[in-house]
Formats: sequence, structure tokens, C-alpha cells
Amino acid sequence: MRVLITGAAGFLGSHLTDRFLRDGHEVVGLDNFLTGSPDNIAHLTGNAKFQFIRHNISDYTYVAGHLDGVLHFASPASPIDYLELPIQTLKVGSLGTINALGIAKSKGARFFLASTSEIYGDPLVHPQTESYWGNVNSIGPRGVYDEAKRFAEAVTMAYHRHHGIDTRIVRIFNTYGPRMRPHDGRVVSNFIVQALTGEPLTLYGDGTQTRSFCYVDDEVEGIFRLFMRGDAEPTNIGNPDEYTVKELAEMVLELTGSRSELVHLPLPTDDPKVRKPDITRAREKLGWEPRVPVREGLARTIEYFRTLTDASSISTRTLGTAASVA
Ligand code: UDP
Repeated sequence: MRVLITGAAGFLGSHLTDRFLRDGHEVVGLDNFLTGSPDNIAHLTGNAKFQFIRHNISDYTYVAGHLDGVLHFASPASPIDYLELPIQTLKVGSLGTINALGIAKSKGARFFLASTSEIYGDPLVHPQTESYWGNVNSIGPRGVYDEAKRFAEAVTMAYHRHHGIDTRIVRIFNTYGPRMRPHDGRVVSNFIVQALTGEPLTLYGDGTQTRSFCYVDDEVEGIFRLFMRGDAEPTNIGNPDEYTVKELAEMVLELTGSRSELVHLPLPTDDPKVRKPDITRAREKLGWEPRVPVREGLARTIEYFRTLTDASSISTRTLGTAASVA
């Protein structure tokens, strides 16, 4: 197969690129490095099966040659990013998705949308099944991401129903692992970097809000299977093991052996109180479920952050804090 991956230099996009290449497929990677990094694809330099195009998918995009798949992963995805880049986030979810769908249509390719658990907003149903419509504040600060992805799902289904395009929608839950940016702003990277540098771990609110954390290899395997043999119905891919943010902080302290303290900062506006995927559909349709327990995934991620060449220059003083927008 020859597939186009938008956001190929991002955290998930680059791991997904590796997954396709591992099975002998060809990948055209597209990224404008707004939040992605050349470091994430540096190891692919000279790989004849990988071609890179530096471009913004929200602008008109032409890709030469045939394509079997178009996977749209480009988007700011960390709360601190989409709060800083609200217009780009709305554009890549709307114009970017339409451009990516247009490419799929013109090539007769399968289209795959990276959607999100944010579709469910601050959920009133727990755990979240795909049939739940969500509880999203369209005009709140997170609305730029949530509504962009909700529009992206709507337009994907419209192309599927109206143009007969073969489409997939994955709803990605919190994912962590190597290639997260030290200053990404998300909870796993913040806590690990803070623990490794001896800075206090920043708990937003009282730390009783929950998330369910999926190791990146598991997430990418679920996405790959959904692309290969799924169907057009949205599918949750995430790890249903649920923890409070405080429990996560304590686990990170234990695994790093750090003596960092815990400090409380204000809870960001519209921060979901709970999140946990119901993965019955992925289990039944794809034979997929996560394999990496959170402690093991965290240990691998801690190793990654330890070995970052610029580890000594990582300072939590410059870490993004979503709480600043509370
Ligand atoms: N969070 C926290 N401290 C941090 C970063 C995040 O307590 O330094 C909390 C945040 O308020 C949220 C959870 O951790 O409740 C997950 O946040 P993240 O930004 O990783 O992703 P989200 O699930 O909110 O998109």
C-alpha cells in the first residue's frame, strides 16, 4: 500500500508511519512542524519507502501518484497547544479534513480520521461508548479542538454517505510514550519531567479527575487494525484502566524514585472530570485490546525522557501549564 499520513512528524503520526513502514508499505508523510518535530522522523532519512512533504494540510494540497489510504493526523492535540493555536486548530479540523477527504476522493483511497475522546466533552455517561453524543461547551476554550473534531467526524460521514468513500473514524483516548515533547503540557510528560528534574508535580484542581492512559504502541496497533479491517462506525481506541491524576502522580514519583512534592494549581476551564473508554467494539471487531500495563508503559516513557540528549536543559519552569487559562 501507499498511504498519505498528515501530521507524520507528530507524536502519533510518526509512530503510525513506523508501523506502516514495518509491514513494507510506502508512506508519504506531510507536516508543517507547527507542533510536530523533524526529530520524530529523522530516523527515516534515506528510507526509500518514505517521502516527506513540508506543507500545511489546511492549504490546498496536491500529492502526486496513486494512494491507497489517507490518514489525517495533523492537529495541535495538547490543551496548551490548541489554546495557543485556536484558529489553526479549527482550520486543520475543518479545512484540513476537507482537503484530506478531497485527496482520498480523487485517488479512490480509504480515508482515516484521527478523532478524539474530546468528542464526549465532560462526559455524563461513564465509561464512554461510541453511541454517547457527548457534553461539549462549544464556546469554551476547549471548544476549538472539540468542535473541530466533531465537524471532522460529520464531514467524514458526509463524504462516506454522499460520495461512497471508504472511511474510518478512531476516537483516541489519552496516549503517552516516547516522542512526547518534554514541554508538551500533558499530564504524563509534565509529571515525568517534573519528577526527573526535582520540581513539584503540578496537580490541576484536587487531582481527583480521572483519565485512562494508553501506551503508544498499543494505540498505534489499534489504529492500524482499524485502518486495515474496520468499518465506518467511530471506534474508541484507548486503555480502559482508569486512574485519578493524583494516583498517576504517585506512580510517577514511585517509578522515578523522585522526592518531588505535589502542588495544586487551578483546574483548567471545562477540564473533563472523568474519562474512560468502553472498548467492546474494538475488542469484537478488531480483536484488539491494550497489552502494556500502565506501570510498564510509564517505566519505558521515563527511560525515554531520561535519555533525551538535552535532558539537562529540560526545565519545568518553561513547562506549559494549561491551568494558566483557567
Ligand atoms: N493535569 C494536571 N497537571 C498537569 C497537566 C495536566 O493535573 O501538569 C491534568 C489535567 O487538568 C487533566 C488531566 O491531567 O485533568 C489530563 O490532562 P492532559 O492535558 O494530559 O490531557 P486531557 O485529557 O485534559 O486532554
